[in-house]
Amino acid sequence: MSSSFAYRHSPIWAQELLISAKSSLRSTMREGRAFEAMAAEIHKSEWWSERQLRGFQSQRLRLIVESAARDVPYYREKYGPLGLDFEKLEFPDAVASLPFITKADVREGGKSLISEERRGPTLFPGNTSGTTGTPLKLYQDLPAINRENAFIWRQLTWAGLRRGDRRAWIRGDVIVPARQQKPPYWRLNRAENMLMLSSFHLSESAAPAYFDSLTVFDPVVIQAYPSSIGFLASWMLSAGLRHRGRSLRGIVASSETLSDAQRREIERAFGCAVFNWYGQFERVAAIGTCEHGRYHLMSDYSFVEMLPAENGLFELVGTGFNNLSMPLIRYRCGDLVRPAPATERCACGRSFPLIEQVIGRADDPVKLPDGRSIGRLHHIFNDVEGILEAQIRQDRLDAIAILVVPSPTFNDRTRETLQSNARCRLGDGIALEIQMVDSIPRTRNGKFKSVVCNV
Ligand SMILES: [Zn+2]
Repeated sequence: MSSSFAYRHSPIWAQELLISAKSSLRSTMREGRAFEAMAAEIHKSEWWSERQLRGFQSQRLRLIVESAARDVPYYREKYGPLGLDFEKLEFPDAVASLPFITKADVREGGKSLISEERRGPTLFPGNTSGTTGTPLKLYQDLPAINRENAFIWRQLTWAGLRRGDRRAWIRGDVIVPARQQKPPYWRLNRAENMLMLSSFHLSESAAPAYFDSLTVFDPVVIQAYPSSIGFLASWMLSAGLRHRGRSLRGIVASSETLSDAQRREIERAFGCAVFNWYGQFERVAAIGTCEHGRYHLMSDYSFVEMLPAENGLFELVGTGFNNLSMPLIRYRCGDLVRPAPATERCACGRSFPLIEQVIGRADDPVKLPDGRSIGRLHHIFNDVEGILEAQIRQDRLDAIAILVVPSPTFNDRTRETLQSNARCRLGDGIALEIQMVDSIPRTRNGKFKSVVCNV
């Protein structure tokens, strides 16, 4: 949010004012009146029976597929030759007769995936580099943003948060200048009653300050990247410390794979349950942990099909229910899960299907000479034009290489943006080199990794 020159050179109080103002604007948009109605709606649907959920899915799928076939040029062209007769189609099963769609299709299709009924200034663009460094641009309408947020809030509620409660946040925001070498490594976001801590300054020497700030702020819920909260937890355990706040009810980890070992360690250090939220930028599937520690596939969020993959795992193929402006129908998101047996029920009483294991993204964190370890670095490619694919590689402790497969639009400006995005997160204590390459090598089992650390 705050890598601008003006922000970096403002005093802390002004930075906090800026963060609060931005966040206030953002929550007015994301959590307005429409959000309240949606939040109330999905607090009901979490208790629906399997039959009710299936009825809802079939109704949403019909609406999305029919309107896409009519109003979205991309689907009109794809579905036209299929001669679909909507009177006779029975959803949700009928969705299986439609073709899959991939990230490459969405990139090539561009704006032809936007509904003609909904084009205009009311759409909000979003960019991601995803895990391959390949950029993807998607558009959402306001109801989609509100609904997404309502689902995130439902997960926070499961973790024990109520509106207005104190929250701590360690999720990769660039809020503390990379050059800063002493506390505070956090900023207070008064608009959301949230202590935002930097993911980029965590090191053995900085950890005591993080620990103290969490004691003083005493959050009810912590939202964090597993790599950030995991680092802090292992430091606490090795120093014989436990979280000292009295209000903490739960920790919600997301955006990275959370291993069982990591989860147990965080639970031990903080003395509360760790919840995990899995979602993706394309918003075609959401999985969250309930109070009983089980993963549920949110079947009121999207319709998910599971394609068999290797070793008893399944690839998630999803149709999101929330964004009619740029619908993704049968989108292959590439992430794998291990579902629980279909007959298994959770003691929480919810009918959402159970998932044993979510295999999401596995980036290596990079290591800095001053002892810091930094995860989720592929964000440095977001909003950078001219990149087909990219990878961050570290073979020595004092240097990092950014491998880029450039497109024809790559230029000096791209190079500068990339440099500055990386410096904001890594600071000046490490050499940085951008290398142009023809292709990015895959791992031995053919997987792409956006960050590889061999140190
Ligand atoms: Zn449950």
